Amino acid sequence: MYKSQAYLYRLDWAKPKRTATPAQREAIAKALLARRTCRVCGEVKPYYIPRRYGECLDCHEGSPS
Ligand SMILES: [Zn+2]
Repeated sequence: MYKSQAYLYRLDWAKPKRTATPAQREAIAKALLARRTCRVCGEVKPYYIPRRYGECLDCHEGSPS
């Protein structure tokens, strides 16, 4: 009994986890969405918000600095 359980555990442990779980995919999607969301105008852009600006390019170009 104990032996078979250990064997099953080892098989499961050795299984490569190449596919993300739905929860992982959701977390990744949220993280990517957050990176594309401008903090100033709140719009979701098709590109990542530049970290040095902290705002989308539209907001950056519109600001006097
Ligand atoms: Zn913006």
